[in-house]
Amino acid sequence: MTVLYLAHTECDNTLHKSALETLTAAKALAEGLGTDLAVGLIGADTSAAAETIGGCGAKFYAVSGADFADGRYSSDLAAAEAIAKACSPEIVIAPATSRFSRALPGLAVRLDGRVDTHLSGIAAEDGKPVAKRWFYRQRMEGTLTREERPWILTLDSGCAEPYAGSGAADVQAVSVDVSSVRTKVAGMECSSEDAQTIRPDAALLCVAGAGWTKKQADGATHVDVAEKTIMDFLTATKASLGSSKSLVDISGEGGAVISFLTHMHQVGQTGSTPRHAKGLSTCCHGEEPHVVGWRFIKERRAINLDAGCGWAQGKCDVLYVGDAFAIMKKVNELLG
Ligand SMILES: Cc1cc2nc3c(=O)[nH]c(=O)nc-3n(C[C@H](O)[C@H](O)[C@H](O)COP(=O)(O)OP(=O)(O)OC[C@H]3O[C@@H](n4cnc5c(N)ncnc54)[C@H](O)[C@@H]3O)c2cc1C
Repeated sequence: MTVLYLAHTECDNTLHKSALETLTAAKALAEGLGTDLAVGLIGADTSAAAETIGGCGAKFYAVSGADFADGRYSSDLAAAEAIAKACSPEIVIAPATSRFSRALPGLAVRLDGRVDTHLSGIAAEDGKPVAKRWFYRQRMEGTLTREERPWILTLDSGCAEPYAGSGAADVQAVSVDVSSVRTKVAGMECSSEDAQTIRPDAALLCVAGAGWTKKQADGATHVDVAEKTIMDFLTATKASLGSSKSLVDISGEGGAVISFLTHMHQVGQTGSTPRHAKGLSTCCHGEEPHVVGWRFIKERRAINLDAGCGWAQGKCDVLYVGDAFAIMKKVNELLG
C-alpha cells in the first residue's frame, strides 16, 4: 500500500509552505499506517523542489516541463493521473491550493476513487486513515473515513508544521503528452501585495466597521479620509483587512464605500473566521454575529466612540474609547 503525496512547484520552482505542511501530514499518515510514502511533483523544473524534501524517505516521481509550469486543469490532471498510475496509491494527499482544488476532484473520477477537500487533518487511527474537516463555518470539527480507494484528500493550509528535511532525491521522471490540450496559458497576472488586502498569514487582523462611513462630529462623512487611513495602516503593518457585514453591504445600498472592500472581507457568522494572532477592530460595534468570527483571535483590541458598544461587553481585551479617525491617524504617524 502507498500514500502518494502530490505537490506542484511555484513560479520560482520552490514548494509553497502549504505544500510542505501537507508533506508532514502525509509522512505521518504513511508511518501511522505502516505504508510506503511516494512523492509526486508537478512543475516546470522540479529538481530543486525534490532536493528540499529529499530527506523524507519517499520514492519520488515528477512530471516536469514548461507545459506544467502554470495551473491548468487538463495538464495538472494528466500529470497527477500519470503519477498515480505509476505508483497505484490507496491514498493521495495534496495541499488545497487553487490549482489542486480545481484538478484533483477530476483525478478521483479518472481513478474511480473518492475525493474529500479542505481537510483540517489526517491521521492513522486503528490502522485506518481518518480525516478531519470543519463543518458549519468552523463550529464543528467532524471526522470521517472511507472504504473506497483511492481516497484523494486535499489539506488546508495551517494544519501541520511545514516539513524540513532536504537531501538528494532519486526522481523517476514520468512523461505526459499534453500536445492535444487546447487551453493555452497566456500568462499570469499576480496582484501586488498591497492590492491584496486579505492576508491569511498576517499576524494582525484589522477590521473596519460601518462607523468609517457614518456622519462624524462635524456632521459630514469622510469616506476618502477613512480609505486613506485604513490603507496607510495596512501598508505600514501588512495586516490583513476584515470588515463588518454592515460595511460591505453598504455598496448594495448605494452608500459611499471603502473601494477596496468586498464581501470576501466580511468576518462573522455569515462571513469568515480568520486565525490571526491579534485583532484590532475599528469603527465596528462588536455585535455578536460579527464577533463570533473572531473565535480564533486570542488578543483583541477595539476602537469605538461608544463606551457601551459590544466590544465593551467582555469581547475584547482592550477597548479604546475614542475617535478612530484621530487614533489611527496618530498610529500611522507613529508607524512612519
Ligand atoms: C443572521 C445574521 C448574520 C449576521 N452575520 C454577520 C457577519 O457575518 N458579520 C458581521 O459583521 N455582521 C453580521 N451581522 C450583522 C451584525 O449584527 C451587525 O449589524 C453588524 O456587524 C454591524 O456592523 P458595524 O458594527 O460595522 O456597524 P454599526 O452597527 O453601524 O456600528 C458602527 C460603529 O462605529 C462606531 N463609530 C462611528 N464613528 C466612529 C469613530 N469616528 N470612531 C470610532 N468608532 C466609531 C459607532 O459607535 C458604532 O459602534 C449579522 C446579522 C444577522 C441578523
